[in-house]
Amino acid sequence: MNVRNCRKCGRIYNYVVGPNICPSCREKMEAKFSEVKEFVRENKGANIPEISEHCDIETSQIQQWIREERLVFAEDSPLGIECEGCGTMIKTGRYCDKCKAALTQGFNPTSKKEKSQRKTDPRENPKMRFL
Ligand SMILES: [Zn+2]
Ligand SMILES: [Zn+2]
Repeated sequence: MNVRNCRKCGRIYNYVVGPNICPSCREKMEAKFSEVKEFVRENKGANIPEISEHCDIETSQIQQWIREERLVFAEDSPLGIECEGCGTMIKTGRYCDKCKAALTQGFNPTSKKEKSQRKTDPRENPKMRFL
């Protein structure tokens, strides 16, 4: 059994997978996520600090959602997040198309689980590449 302290509320809980938060905090997070998603949909130009302030959520959490491809910046939004590989602005995820391709070809991907979770086909979105 893997028992941990929740990093949000400090409560001890039975850890299974994912971020180190207990089920009740996770539930609150999901509610927060819907709120953020709603806000982003209505305010396409909103940047991370604005979302953070409006929805009362940490910027790091928003970034994490973007990295997990749960949140995506609008196509026509000037905003984005940096590719972890080369620093190019991307709309969601962790890497730009180029780095993704490089990762799938050579390099050992960090985890199989992560790879299978990846749903977006980089070829679908050539428009995403701009600075
Ligand atoms: Zn908790
Ligand atoms: Zn890149």
